[in-house]
Amino acid sequence: MKSSIRLGRVFGIEVGLHYSWFLIALLITMSLSAQFQETHREWGPEVIWATALTTALLFFAALLAHELSHALVARSRGLTTRAITLFALGGVAQIEKEPEDPKTEFWVGIVGPFTSAVIGLISLGVALLSGWRVSATPATPFVSMLVWLGYINLSLAAFNLIPGFPLDGGRILRALIWWNNKNATRATQLAARIGQVVALGFIALGIFRFFAGAGFGGLWIAFIGWFLMQAAGSSYNSVTLTANLKDVRVSDVMTRDCVSVDGNLNVQTFVEEHLLRSGRRCFVVEQNGEMLGLVTPHEVKDLDRARWPYTTLYDVMRPINQVHTVAPTTPVMEALETMGRDDVNQLPVVTGNHLDGIVTRANVIQFFQTKST
Ligand SMILES: [Zn+2]
Repeated sequence: MKSSIRLGRVFGIEVGLHYSWFLIALLITMSLSAQFQETHREWGPEVIWATALTTALLFFAALLAHELSHALVARSRGLTTRAITLFALGGVAQIEKEPEDPKTEFWVGIVGPFTSAVIGLISLGVALLSGWRVSATPATPFVSMLVWLGYINLSLAAFNLIPGFPLDGGRILRALIWWNNKNATRATQLAARIGQVVALGFIALGIFRFFAGAGFGGLWIAFIGWFLMQAAGSSYNSVTLTANLKDVRVSDVMTRDCVSVDGNLNVQTFVEEHLLRSGRRCFVVEQNGEMLGLVTPHEVKDLDRARWPYTTLYDVMRPINQVHTVAPTTPVMEALETMGRDDVNQLPVVTGNHLDGIVTRANVIQFFQTKST
């Protein structure tokens, strides 16, 4: 998720707010002030609103602490966190790589709920020291705030421990399965499937509660379930794709009959006689059997049409030393990563100085379509 508003850096990690966060901050502030209105009308509107707002802000500080704890444990085990984003359903720490061993996965996963539980217990502890008695209505704004934060953080810890991937509990479960079967892919698939079952449970419970009269609360649970369902499904698909792609090499999917063109051709002739007629997307400019550069529709598109007859392919081609190339033995995953990084749709496949072919994103997709039918 891209964060919409940047807040700054904490421990060198970018922290941001997604727009949906404001909706939840508003809902929490309103429901708290309604609650205080009922129990402590004597505080007056200013104190009630100020308490509600401060409580909501502290709740998000606690959420941030939860995500930061994931990020810091990840860092201590060599994984970088790109950013932390707070949104309507909580927070996400975008850790750059998947953990390489189940131990790392376990500790990174469990520290979040642990942090929330500690914050919850400290809040309730301070409330008790300030004269609050369990199950009594808190007397002062300060204690009301602590009690609410205490319970909400304990609930947050408990919720995150539910063993449905990608919740923290699901990660812990994945780590345990992984540690047991030594197979990261199978562990993720299993944890993601369990995550989908848990998500279905949430949806069913939410719908049931909605019809039992819980209203918005019921819909909210169903919505969280839907969100978890999506996340678990996409984790399952991406790990399965990665596993299937692991043994596939560039030479298995690449297009071999690569067309070379004369660099002295002008763009007009090239477009009419080669690009449009052949339907290919990539051409190699060669001279004496040596590759000089690549021409794709992208290079042509950037050029003013009026100049087409007066511009040669030498002028518009992307010189080969500015293009990443891959070898026939390069894993397809690696080629896809390179394409993503360079923001291109194809890469020349090269052995030494000889062009073997072109690998495109479409090649990879096609490969899987034919494989799965
Ligand atoms: Zn977490």
